[in-house]
Amino acid sequence: MTEPIEAVAGLRERLDQVREKIEGGARRCGREPKEITLVAVSKTQPVSVVREALGVGVTDVGENRVQEAESKIAALGNQPARWHLIGHLQANKARRAVKLFDVVHTLDSVSLAHRLDRSCAEEDRSELPVLIQVDLAGETAKSGVLVTGLPELVTAVNECSRLRFQGLMGMSHDYEVAIEEGATIVRVGTAIFGERIT
Ligand SMILES: *Cc1c(COP(=O)(O)O)cnc(C)c1O
Repeated sequence: MTEPIEAVAGLRERLDQVREKIEGGARRCGREPKEITLVAVSKTQPVSVVREALGVGVTDVGENRVQEAESKIAALGNQPARWHLIGHLQANKARRAVKLFDVVHTLDSVSLAHRLDRSCAEEDRSELPVLIQVDLAGETAKSGVLVTGLPELVTAVNECSRLRFQGLMGMSHDYEVAIEEGATIVRVGTAIFGERIT
């Protein structure tokens, strides 16, 4: 594997730039920057880069695959970070996700809600914050609940005693716009780490 020199070089500067943009976006619409959580999306980046990011003040890390997060979390040992699952979650990985992640961004079905709630019970975890991923474009082949299915899913989540409904997750390619529209969490990958390693 090639050394992740590009990703590490300038990491602090890029992170500062992203933070400044978040602050600028927040101020422009009269919001407090501190009410916006920056999730640094580290998928495909090696663990050394994640460690570096945590070293320069990243608190929240986003990963889209359970397996990849599992190995990074194990390698980082007890270095504190909040881990966010931002990719589609298959039901058969629900329990592993409950073990690993602090927040799940991609709840998209009633059955997955029930599965996560049950996994929390099995893992003796009292609370799992979840965001519902909405498929606004109505592209049913992709993940995300259709707008028409949203009320039923919100009701189901609220009936799950261990799930904490934190809001809806839409996608925007422009996090400054998302902030102006009221987003409280922004997920940023490339602007922090550079191009992904494929
Ligand atoms: C990869 C990913 C991001 C980050 O995308 P960038 O364009 O690299 O900032 C954000 N959200 C999700 C769901 C992703 O999978």
